[in-house]
Amino acid sequence: MTQVRSREQSRAIDARALAGRIDGAVVVPGDETWDQVRRAWNLAVDQQPAAVAVPESAGDVVEIVAFAGDNGLRVAPQGTGHGGAALGDLDDTILVKLHRLRGVSVDPESMTARVAAGTIWIEVVEEAARHGLAALAGSSPDVGVVGYTLGGGLSWLGRKHGIGANQVTAIELVTADGRLRRVDRDNDPDLFWALRGGGGNFGVVTAIEFALFPIREVYAGILWFPVDRAAEVLAEWRAWTDGLPDETTSVGRILQLPPLDEIAEPIRGKSFVVVEVIHSGSESEGREIVAPLRGLGPVLDTVELIPVRALSHLHMDPEHPVPGNGDGIALDDLDTAAIDEIVTTTVGSPLLSVEVRHLEGAIGRSRVEHGALAAFDAPFLLFAIGIAATPEAGQAVERTVADLRAALARLEAPHTYLNFAETKRDARTLWSETSYHRLRRIKTAFDPQNVIRSNHEL
Ligand SMILES: Cc1cc2nc3c(=O)[nH]c(=O)nc-3n(C[C@H](O)[C@H](O)[C@H](O)COP(=O)(O)OP(=O)(O)OC[C@H]3O[C@@H](n4cnc5c(N)ncnc54)[C@H](O)[C@@H]3O)c2cc1C
Repeated sequence: MTQVRSREQSRAIDARALAGRIDGAVVVPGDETWDQVRRAWNLAVDQQPAAVAVPESAGDVVEIVAFAGDNGLRVAPQGTGHGGAALGDLDDTILVKLHRLRGVSVDPESMTARVAAGTIWIEVVEEAARHGLAALAGSSPDVGVVGYTLGGGLSWLGRKHGIGANQVTAIELVTADGRLRRVDRDNDPDLFWALRGGGGNFGVVTAIEFALFPIREVYAGILWFPVDRAAEVLAEWRAWTDGLPDETTSVGRILQLPPLDEIAEPIRGKSFVVVEVIHSGSESEGREIVAPLRGLGPVLDTVELIPVRALSHLHMDPEHPVPGNGDGIALDDLDTAAIDEIVTTTVGSPLLSVEVRHLEGAIGRSRVEHGALAAFDAPFLLFAIGIAATPEAGQAVERTVADLRAALARLEAPHTYLNFAETKRDARTLWSETSYHRLRRIKTAFDPQNVIRSNHEL
């Protein structure tokens, strides 16, 4: 009698055959380490792939991609799982966890870094700082360098030096045909363009190289105000952003902090409206620029000259896996009515943080040599998040984020930022019309069978 195997059994048996072909681990449903290995950084995401592969080398990645292609499976590369929420159903997919491919080398002469696929930002920031250099890192120390950069890369230094992806000089990746390639301006230039802002749709990246900047210190910190001043402070901050130099980046934010021990005592369990400021020019210039905000009388003021490496902790992003639900949208403007909507919807809600990042500067300037995310059209980017410790808490957060989005629909920009989109989006809302069509053509050329699976598919 022919034995009928369930789809899950077939997948498991198929995937086990991969184990003999790589040095790294292959884990399938039912294995002892399954629940630990399939976990994303965002603990609210329940990833149930056909199998998890943990490569030890670029050679392993070649084998995994070839195996998936031969067996009708797809491949989803993952660095940390910060962006796991938008991935969706992974039933027919091998989740390729890249955390074992680690390492940073900095060349102080050329002011560049070479980084292996599983490296997180804090590792690059610390190594670059040893040489008096800074990278275009984001707010979180443990976001993956590759996922962040493929999606764009919005840094505290971005208004001066632009989107992170546009500072990339070379990328090594395994494409869907199982070939390890090194792409740059002269080799596979179309693919190089697509990888710089087109997300993880084009292959499994094994290493990335990018420019660093000679910055040792910045004038930066946070101005804290009581949350009942939220509308006033956000309106003052919004007006202050007009005409700032590119060296100054800032965020207007409402924070409703839970009573957790890991949060410093003066702010634990309390709510605030804050302005985060990062000025990468001189201290005296910074003081002058920040003066109008200081004039508002913050209850706490931490803005001072700090080592650039300290920027990794300025935003107080969690430095270990947490369960969270959130989402982001770009805004064409931030008028008084929108600020009122943000305050009314957020204060007293289950949201932990609602932040508005000021863009423009070099982030808003497109150049011919840039990649698929050449520039942001919108001047502001909003991100709202809450803790999803239980499914019910997660749903309450989701509802509030949806309410906030609806309240701001009038000002929502046509295109948003892939890295801040934590829900499924129509791909046409992630890139400009021209970029979207070019990305589609490149995807079809390099991955006609759609083997490579990103959290934001084309
Ligand atoms: C707390 C927090 C703070 C953040 N701050 C910022 C910020 O300041 N600026 C900013 O721009 N973004 C920020 N982000 C968003 C962050 O950049 C995205 O979530 C990004 O996708 C995370 O990359 P990752 O590799 O850590 O996550 P993952 O979930 O591992 O990866 C996300 C996607 O990137 C792709 N990818 C990852 N690795 C590879 C690879 N080796 N090869 C091919 N594709 C790959 C895949 O498509 C994957 O689905 C923040 C996110 C969080 C949770």
